Amino acid sequence: MNPPQSEPPSRPPDFLSVQDVEDAEEILFAHPPMRVVTTVCTCGEAYPCRDVRWARLVKQVTEAGG
Ligand SMILES: [Zn+2]
Repeated sequence: MNPPQSEPPSRPPDFLSVQDVEDAEEILFAHPPMRVVTTVCTCGEAYPCRDVRWARLVKQVTEAGG
């Protein structure tokens, strides 16, 4: 249900200034949502998980020594 008063929708409430509304529009324009793709290991942790980091370290050491 709409409130009884018939103010134009562009007029902000008393606790907001016109500048606040302009700032809000700029903020929404400058801050669009962004989908971030993160790589997840099949074990459920963020990749590289602890096991992968350990295995990489082992490989690194063995390959450097050989
Ligand atoms: Zn893992």
